[in-house]
Amino acid sequence: MDSVSSSNSSQIENLVIIGSGPAGYTAAIYAARANLQPLLITGFNSGGIPGGQLMTTTFVENFPGFPDGVMGPELMDLIKAQAIRWGTKLVEADAQSIDLSVRPFKIESDEGVIQAHSLIIATGARANRLHLPEENRFWSKGISACAICDGATPQFRDEELAVVGGGDSACEEAVYLTKFGSHVHLLVRSKKLRASAALADRVLANTQITVHWNTEVIGVEGDEWLEKLELRTGENDQVYTLELRGLFYAIGHKPNTDFLGEQLALDSGGYIVTSPGRPESSVEGVFAAGDVADPEWRQGITAAGAGCKASLAAERWLSLRSLAKLIKRTELEPEQIEKNNFTEISTESNYKQDALWQKGSFALRKLYHESRKPLLVVYTSSACGPCHVLKPQLKRVLEELKGQAQGVEIDIEVDQEIAKQADINGTPTIQLFKEKVLKSQWKGVKQRSTFKEAIVNLLVD
Ligand code: NDP
Repeated sequence: MDSVSSSNSSQIENLVIIGSGPAGYTAAIYAARANLQPLLITGFNSGGIPGGQLMTTTFVENFPGFPDGVMGPELMDLIKAQAIRWGTKLVEADAQSIDLSVRPFKIESDEGVIQAHSLIIATGARANRLHLPEENRFWSKGISACAICDGATPQFRDEELAVVGGGDSACEEAVYLTKFGSHVHLLVRSKKLRASAALADRVLANTQITVHWNTEVIGVEGDEWLEKLELRTGENDQVYTLELRGLFYAIGHKPNTDFLGEQLALDSGGYIVTSPGRPESSVEGVFAAGDVADPEWRQGITAAGAGCKASLAAERWLSLRSLAKLIKRTELEPEQIEKNNFTEISTESNYKQDALWQKGSFALRKLYHESRKPLLVVYTSSACGPCHVLKPQLKRVLEELKGQAQGVEIDIEVDQEIAKQADINGTPTIQLFKEKVLKSQWKGVKQRSTFKEAIVNLLVD
C-alpha cells in the first residue's frame, strides 16, 4: 500500500492532522469521509514512532470489535488503512514547528512548509526515563524503554530481568517478559500498583514475578552489558543490589507539546487545555485529540473517540466560515485496501537468488555468500511495532532501487543463533553488507532516505 502523498507548498489544506495514533487516524477517517481530504503528518522521530503507543504494545484486549484481542501494531495498521482508503494524504515526517499567529496556519515539517485552515493536534505522549547516572552507557545494552520491542533479544533469554513502574504498562511488560527471562522483578516505588485490577492480578498470581514494593532504582552497574542494579527500599532506606541482565522502564509518559512553544494554553504537565469535554483548544480553528490533551483516560478507544469529536468540530468550524474546499468523488465506494503481504521463510525449494525481499537464515546465508549486491538485513521480532513501521519503508527503498540491492528479514525469536552471532540487542536493527563486509548499522526506525543514501553510496563505490 503506497500511502505517501506530499502537500503542494502553495496549496492551503482544509485540515491538517498532526499525529498518527488512534486519535489522529480516526480524525482522518471522519474528515476524509466528509470529503475534506485531510493531510496527516505522521511524525517520525520526535515523540515516538508513527502509529503511537499501540505500536509498542502486544495484545489489546479492550478495544471494541476484537473479542479475542488484537496486536497493537495490527490494530494501527487497520485504522491507518481505513484512513488511506477514504483519501487521507500522508506526510511521513515530523512537524518541527507551527505558527498559529497567521491564517492560514503554517506548519514546518521535514518535507517543507504546509498551510492549513484548521488543525488537529494528536501528537500523543512519549515514554519517561529515570535519568540514572550511567543510564546512557547501558542504553540498549541492558536498559530499554520497550520490553515489547526488545524482550526477545538473545541477551535476555533465561536471565533475570526487571521492570520499573506500577501501572498497566509495567504489569503488562512484566508478564510479557516471563516468556523470555528466567525471573522478572517488578520494582514499584510505592506500596500499591496503579494498574487495572485485571493486569495487577495477573502479576500478583505469577510465580515468575517478584514485586519489590517501596523500591527505587538508584544505580546501574556492569561491564559491556548491564549486570547489577542498586536499589533502595523506602521503608528503612536499606540499599541492596540485584544481579540481572535487563532493566525495562514503564514509568509513564509526557505529552508531545514542545513543538507548540507557548502558542496554545497547556496545563502544568504540558497537556493541551481544551474546553471541558470538547476538542477546541485556546486558538480558534485548532483542535486537540488523544493523549496530548488527556492526562487521565489515555486509552486507545478514548483517543479514537476524541479524534472523531475533533474531526466533526473542525468540519463544522470550516463550513461555518465557508473555508472548506470539498473534493468531488468520482467513485462513491473507494477500492478495498489490499492485505499486507506475508513473506514466507525461504528454504532450498522457494529461495530466489534475485528476489528483492526474503526471510530467514537460509536466504541470509545464500545472499551473504553469493550476492555481490548491497544486502540489507533487518532483525525483527513478532511483537515489535517499530518493525511494522520499518519493513514497508525498507521494501520501498529496494523497489525504488529496482533490484540493485536486496533485503532479508531475520526474526530473532526464530533465528536466535544468528541474532546472537550478529550481536543483536534490540529490534529493529538493520545491517547493510556489501560482499560480506558490514558497511552500516542502524537501530530503530530511520528515514527512508538514510537507507537509500547508504545503499546508493555502495553502488557507486
Ligand atoms: P501510568 O502513568 O499509568 O503509570 C506509571 C507508573 O510508573 C506508576 O506506577 C508510577 O508510580 C511509576 N513511576 C513514575 N515515575 C517513576 C519513577 N521516577 N520511578 C519509579 N516509578 C515511577 O503509565 P502507564 O504507561 O502504565 O499507562 C499509561 C496509560 O495507558 C494508562 O491509562 C493505562 O491504563 C494505559 N495502558 C493500558 C494498557 C492495557 O489496557 N492493556 C497497557 C498499557 C497502558 P506511581 O503509581 O507511584 O505514580
